[in-house]
Amino acid sequence: MKKFENNKRNQINDIVSVVKICSFLFIATILFKYIFANNRYEQTIEYKNSILLFFGITILALLAIYGVWRFSAIKKIDIKYGQYIQYVEDGLFILLFAIVVMETGAYDSHYKFLFLFIIITATIQEGMNLGMIVAIISTGIILGMDLIMVSGAAINSYFEDDLILSGIFILTAWPLGHYVKIEREHIKGLENMVHKDGLTGVYNHRFFCDTLRQQVIISEKQQQPISMLFIDIDFFKEYNDLHGHQKGDEVLRTIGELLSSSIKPGEVVARYGGEEFAILLPDTGEDEAVQIAEKIREKIEKTYFIGQENQPNGNLTISLGISTYPTKAKNDVELIKSADDALYRAKFFNRNRVETYSSILDDLKKEIDEKDVELITSVKTLISVINAKDRYTYAHTEKVVLYSRLLAERLELNEEDKKTLIYGAYMHDIGKININKEVLNKKMPLNDEEWELLKQHPSHGVEIIKPVISLKSIIPLIYHHHERYDGKGYPHGLKGDEIPFLARVLTVVDSFDAMTSNRPYNKRKTYEEGIEELRRCRGIQFDPAITDAFIEVIKTVKDNLDNLM
Ligand code: GH3
Ligand code: MG
Ligand code: MG
Repeated sequence: MKKFENNKRNQINDIVSVVKICSFLFIATILFKYIFANNRYEQTIEYKNSILLFFGITILALLAIYGVWRFSAIKKIDIKYGQYIQYVEDGLFILLFAIVVMETGAYDSHYKFLFLFIIITATIQEGMNLGMIVAIISTGIILGMDLIMVSGAAINSYFEDDLILSGIFILTAWPLGHYVKIEREHIKGLENMVHKDGLTGVYNHRFFCDTLRQQVIISEKQQQPISMLFIDIDFFKEYNDLHGHQKGDEVLRTIGELLSSSIKPGEVVARYGGEEFAILLPDTGEDEAVQIAEKIREKIEKTYFIGQENQPNGNLTISLGISTYPTKAKNDVELIKSADDALYRAKFFNRNRVETYSSILDDLKKEIDEKDVELITSVKTLISVINAKDRYTYAHTEKVVLYSRLLAERLELNEEDKKTLIYGAYMHDIGKININKEVLNKKMPLNDEEWELLKQHPSHGVEIIKPVISLKSIIPLIYHHHERYDGKGYPHGLKGDEIPFLARVLTVVDSFDAMTSNRPYNKRKTYEEGIEELRRCRGIQFDPAITDAFIEVIKTVKDNLDNLM
């Protein structure tokens, strides 16, 4: 939209410049006529010709300079300074016209109307205020000349005539200025319609994305952070189903108002999608963004919405995801994606919650040896390759990491083990990179040969991770995550406590997600069925104590799971 505005401004300025150049030519013609035809000076023809030549060349040179200035140089100047330059230019034109009027008889001059040029052009370019100022200055000049230079006469007929001319000046600037003002307001109204969301009155998706893109460029130059909040109403489908879409729309409107009243000038609230909002916080780091998000979350929690008591958590709430440029995302697209990721996590951890984005690999990079950073980057690439090959593995990895975080809390693991479990959970399927797409996505049960191939993924995973010295501690997890408590697992057939503890933990989490996700070859179990299956295999396939702890974890988050997965 800014581009259109600048374009329009430039086009108007071009037209006005043509008018100014023409008026410049008129001035030259008038001065020619006055100097030579009026016989004011008694000179020889040769002398007159040389003066004429000098005069002509000077006018042409001035015209050329003005043309270059107007059509090229001024467009490169910042719009803020451009306005002041405009004032100076208008002042010079007024001075020029005043000189012409002076030279052509002052109060008796026929060329006082010349001021109309500058009154009209100034009004078109800068609006009514400047137009009126120019009209008043012009009036002052012509009436001043009449009053000062014709002061002896009893009746000053020049003054009387020029009063009418002054009226014309003012009456030109006033309605024209009004027209320009109305047109600008009209454009502003249209702009609002294009940029704003009709239902909630906050900005729309397109405006948000455009502003974010521009803001990232500005922040990069000024070395400032930007934070983004992604907001989604909790269980809104239920609210709509129970109270109807109209009531739902009212909630959206109220939330739009509450969000708008929570931000400072320069920050942007937008409706990103159906019931999702986004807030852009320029020059705001993650910690400050968390505080802002917390305040917003609390504000919505405390606001009463009709019928909110029927919501699954007895209240109408929102979840918020936060990401920050440049620490968590390198560009606008990554910023949106990572804030969305954080929102997903907020939903997972029971909703009505603020979560910041954290990438496991980025966290890992901070802790490992310098020399391993490159290898970790390759791991990231491998994971994106798996993602492209097999959507299941990717979504599965994300969920296994989430469950592992929760289970680590429940088992009260120390920090070191917690990290090992999470990194292990993140990379446990990395060996699947060697298995082709057809086998990974096969709908029929695998044949013996394919099954053998699939069973090799733990050792392939270890091969990949081995060179990364800092990841040494996760090797047992990758290698043994398919062992069974009764010793009937693979690759080594380890039994009970022979299986490393964290590998036993990962087995429970991994298996539960496998049962409760849609796999190419079998239908997913519900979370209740999943819990049943865990109980059935407790002590057979899974470590009993870990299984019990995990069932507890699942029971606490179960209500969220169906909505998310
Ligand atoms: P969650 O807590 O996981 O966010 O659950 P949810 O039910 O809110 O699920 P989701 O975020 O997917 O919400 C989608 C619902 O939002 C579907 C639809 O009923 C509602 N919705 C989307 N756009 C509008 C709208 O313009 N007006 C109304 N009234 N409802 C909308
Ligand atoms: Mg949604
Ligand atoms: Mg929702």
